[in-house]
Amino acid sequence: MKSFLKNFLIFLIVFLIISGLFSLLNSGEGGTQQISLNNLVEKIKAKEIQEILIEKDRLNIISFDQKRYFTFKEENESLISVLTDYGVSAEDLSLISISVENTKGRETFFNVILPVLFPLFLLIIIIFFFSKQVRGAGMQAFKFGESQARKINPQDKRVKTTFQDVAGIREAKDDLSEIVDFLKNPKKYIKLGAKIPKGVLLIGLPGCGKTLLARAVAGEAGVPFFHISGSEFIELFVGVGASRVRDLFSKAKKNLPAIVFIDELDAVGRQRGAGLGGSHDEREQTLNQILVELDGFEPNIGLIVLAATNRPDILDPALLRPGRFDRKVILDLPDLKDREAILKIHAKGKPLSKEINLQKVAERTPGFTGADLESLLNEASILAAKRNKNNIGQFEIFESIERVLLGPERKSHVLSEKEKEIVAYHEAGHAIISYLLPGCDPVQKISIISRGQAAGYTLIMPEKEKSLKTKSEFLDNLSALLGGYVAEEKFFGEVTTGAANDLRRVTQLTRKLITEYGMSETFGPRTFGEKEELVFLGREISERRDYSEEFAKMIDKEVSSFIKLCHKRASDLLEKNKNKLKTLAIFLLKNETIEREQFVKIMKKK
Ligand code: ADP
Ligand code: MG
Ligand code: ZN
Repeated sequence: MKSFLKNFLIFLIVFLIISGLFSLLNSGEGGTQQISLNNLVEKIKAKEIQEILIEKDRLNIISFDQKRYFTFKEENESLISVLTDYGVSAEDLSLISISVENTKGRETFFNVILPVLFPLFLLIIIIFFFSKQVRGAGMQAFKFGESQARKINPQDKRVKTTFQDVAGIREAKDDLSEIVDFLKNPKKYIKLGAKIPKGVLLIGLPGCGKTLLARAVAGEAGVPFFHISGSEFIELFVGVGASRVRDLFSKAKKNLPAIVFIDELDAVGRQRGAGLGGSHDEREQTLNQILVELDGFEPNIGLIVLAATNRPDILDPALLRPGRFDRKVILDLPDLKDREAILKIHAKGKPLSKEINLQKVAERTPGFTGADLESLLNEASILAAKRNKNNIGQFEIFESIERVLLGPERKSHVLSEKEKEIVAYHEAGHAIISYLLPGCDPVQKISIISRGQAAGYTLIMPEKEKSLKTKSEFLDNLSALLGGYVAEEKFFGEVTTGAANDLRRVTQLTRKLITEYGMSETFGPRTFGEKEELVFLGREISERRDYSEEFAKMIDKEVSSFIKLCHKRASDLLEKNKNKLKTLAIFLLKNETIEREQFVKIMKKK
């Protein structure tokens, strides 16, 4: 904007000078008076005229008393003959000095040169004007190489994050507080000859708080924080990523002590040498540059590089070598207590009704990440606002849990009466088997309102989290998963597509039991197949077979016999509880959903 104004001013000044020159050349009109030819003749006869200057058809006249006049004659006529025709005597004429102006010079300037020069001049101005802008754009093209790192200053209170904003992940916080302390009191460490790690890798599932924690480290230490995401390095032009890395580090080095944070490191840090295509080349160059930068500064200068990834398995081993990202910090999924603490943090500023117990909410949300919990509370407040309530109640919270788990309710997805009936029996089948088998988690809710992809759903959630699972628990789960299929079989004589998802999960799980967990007696304690990632196809997992064709056949057979066994169990259980299943399905058809207490009541009734 500023340069535009400047250009405009220059343009204006030039324009004014030109028009000024014009008016100078055309001047002389001031004080001159036009008279008629007759008038001139009279004045000559009265001997008033001293001088006549002929300029083509124009006559510039000066009288003896120094007055100026002008008039016109026909162009091709000579002035003398015109005046004689008017009856001016030769004697009168002799008093006047008549001269003919040589207009040739001025003429060529006005008529020949100026028409060419003026547009040329304008053109030059325009080119000059635009070239300035074009040059500006050109500069931007060169700026590609600059990193788009966002810098957060420690003084910036609005975006300041501290460890207090991060709940749970205690081990990770402990590990990082060492780095905070180093950034605050480097001398203490240097004096004892300690080498503080240059690179720290944060590893955790998406939404676990890696980005949050990195910012908290910067906030705690009170140092500038340079933040860039791995995917931002990848651009159309080869070499841009590498120059961005260079720029990012040089910026950080000018602001020591500082933290550089590379989010989603796996986007650039994948294993090299196995890819196809140009973009891969670009990634390799970028990765190489990161390695160069990591090696290029001495430890303990006060620069710490944090990086985050959810796929440490695919990172290039060179990144993990000593002196690079050799320190790893793992962020676990939050457990019960952590979930409650995270909920507390995000409940700030959200009016919750008194009936809500955040511990209960935490109990209902096993497997939720911090990001899930945040979005759960956000959904709840949106729901409360939609219903014009002035605080968030139990209903909104529970509704939001299901939303986060399964997606929003689809009221428009109307099922026919027959379809509803099938869904009701199907879900009742799942629920009853889960209730009856000890290895299954308790049923929290059953619903036949479609949600996301599911036509109906049975919410089964553990009371306490477990990290180990036994074979009998797996078998119970498999039976419960088959409950919907079996119920359809029993009550409608044939199955629908509604069981397709269940069947896929059953098959996958059974395969895992056999090939990964060694839970098949036929094969004993061994695994089958090496899982591998194809780097150039992204997330695709390929399985390398490390067993013979014969084993493959046996595994298939074993999978089928496992499933058959579970199918039989489910079938027997539902046969015995046919009446219960009917009661439950009818209740569901009438009420669409059933909560845990009501469900247990139905099951306990004789
Ligand atoms: P990641 O980078 O691991 O994918 P983020 O750090 O972006 O996850 O987390 C997303 C959001 O989830 C954060 O902005 C924060 O609001 C919330 N969150 C995640 N973990 C926690 C936690 N431990 N404590 C508080 N909030 C959390
Ligand atoms: Mg992140
Ligand atoms: Zn099902």
